[in-house]
Amino acid sequence: MPYTSKHGPIDLPRVDILTYLFPPGETPSTKPLWIDSQEPEKNLSPAQLLRWVKRLAFGLERTGLKKGEVVMIYTPNHVFVPVAYLGIVGAGYAFSGANPIYTLPEMVHQINNTGAQIILAHPTMVATALAAAAKAGLSSERIYQFSDEFCPPCYGVPDWTSLIGTEAEGSTYSWPRLSAQEAASTVATINYSSGTTGLPKGVCVSHTNLIANIEQTIYMKYLDKPFWPDISKRPAERWIGFLPLYHAYGQLYTILMAVKLSVPVYIMKQFVYTDFLASIQKFKITHLQVAPPILVMLSKRPETAKYDISSVTDVLCGAAPLSKELQNDVMKRFGMQINQGWGMTEVTCGAIHVPGGVSDDTGSVGQLDPNSECKLLDDDGIEVPAGSPGEMYIRGPQVCLRYWKNEAATAESIDKDGWLKTGDVAVCDEREYFWIVDRKKELIKVNALQVAPAELEAVLLEHDQIADAAVVGITLHNEEWPRAYVALQDNAKGKVKPEDIQQWIKSKVAKHKWLVGGVTFINEVPKLASGKIQRKTMREWSKADAKI
Ligand code: ATP
Ligand code: MG
Repeated sequence: MPYTSKHGPIDLPRVDILTYLFPPGETPSTKPLWIDSQEPEKNLSPAQLLRWVKRLAFGLERTGLKKGEVVMIYTPNHVFVPVAYLGIVGAGYAFSGANPIYTLPEMVHQINNTGAQIILAHPTMVATALAAAAKAGLSSERIYQFSDEFCPPCYGVPDWTSLIGTEAEGSTYSWPRLSAQEAASTVATINYSSGTTGLPKGVCVSHTNLIANIEQTIYMKYLDKPFWPDISKRPAERWIGFLPLYHAYGQLYTILMAVKLSVPVYIMKQFVYTDFLASIQKFKITHLQVAPPILVMLSKRPETAKYDISSVTDVLCGAAPLSKELQNDVMKRFGMQINQGWGMTEVTCGAIHVPGGVSDDTGSVGQLDPNSECKLLDDDGIEVPAGSPGEMYIRGPQVCLRYWKNEAATAESIDKDGWLKTGDVAVCDEREYFWIVDRKKELIKVNALQVAPAELEAVLLEHDQIADAAVVGITLHNEEWPRAYVALQDNAKGKVKPEDIQQWIKSKVAKHKWLVGGVTFINEVPKLASGKIQRKTMREWSKADAKI
């Protein structure tokens, strides 16, 4: 029998996202909610945001865009990104964010793939946006500069303020109120999966998906304090918005949950570790949403000790595997509770969370969110018993509609009954807590035995002199073996030898997991802005190394 969430069920509003976030009759707050962490005088309140959102929505409609068409943004984080997101989605168009580090071919791919009609590009990215648009056959007139200050035309590209309506036009604008059926079928966002295992895929998420995932996440976050979503009863929270806003994780917290919960977010335009620490200290940040590399930095980087980060009480960690050793090390040293959550672009953002109030130290990703189901299947499609690993399938109101223009991938991933094949391997215990063992595609097969890179990476990170590490399979003489790419702490460089690393692993894990494929020292593990190890790059390295 599939697992059904032990929590809920909860009622889900069936409206469009703007009506949900700004219910008729409620006056939006005038307190700053999105605040630039470097220049705090640059900020927006929900009331100001709504005015900008309506002006943008008005302007987009005026261009003659048809409902359902795609508007893309191509920018680092700044305080107006929430305006673009909610303006585009609220007017009935689909929002698609491009990674600001995308190169020309990657940008061409996303414009072509989404069929984007308008691009809002940061002034520093206008040149690439223009070149990409030219290659994709999109007129340069469809590109606008988009930042947190007015920019004079550059390369003939006007500022986005020339696209939007005036204050007066915005104030008369009323967004399309979607019926329950329309909210469930209208594509709100087309985020691209991280591209860890292959080419990134565009994931279509509806208004109902977004609302469901906000409600589910809030329910799990405050499970021990169900009255806390009510701001008048809740101690103040302050968040820091460094997660990229072209990705679901950043959007859910920095944009959507921030409005819903009225939590101010200090936006970082780019992630610099010491700026991150300084902002936590300065703004007394209370809650963090992170991916594991941030915890690696907290644990390993000497700069951490120079800042007072004691205001942080709670950390949500998701997006990639986190070992319980690292989790516990950071919890003990900094006195913060770290709980995990599991998600993927295809479940809007998340589907499993450690419930609020539970102090987990086991490395579990938590329990199923309300209204969600899960089954763990073996290679023959049979459900595995509690305690055995199986591939995870998820069903619930947060499961996306489909992949964008990719019927084959949709058919492969979502079956006719709505079950989403995640590609992740998990174990579940009797209390229905889940642990992610690894990703099916990343498992290394050593003589038919499976080795999880995440497990070996966790063991490597326990080593004092290792700053960071990634493990990938290498094929030598037609057999696959684990190979480690290790970044040493500065004071260990030149002293620690690959044999020492091999020895460390041998002392910790079974023989089939030893690093027979070798150990290579590198300066830095390649990671995406969202915190995931770039497995594609690692595989290219191991392929090249196999030829040596
Ligand atoms: P692609 O699908 O393009 O290869 P991706 O799956 O990495 O890339 P995302 O949708 O951003 O793209 O990430 C979802 C994946 O992240 C999950 O399938 C899972 O492997 C991993 N993940 C998320 N949260 C956790 C977690 N708490 N523990 C372990 N892995 C996690
Ligand atoms: Mg994926």
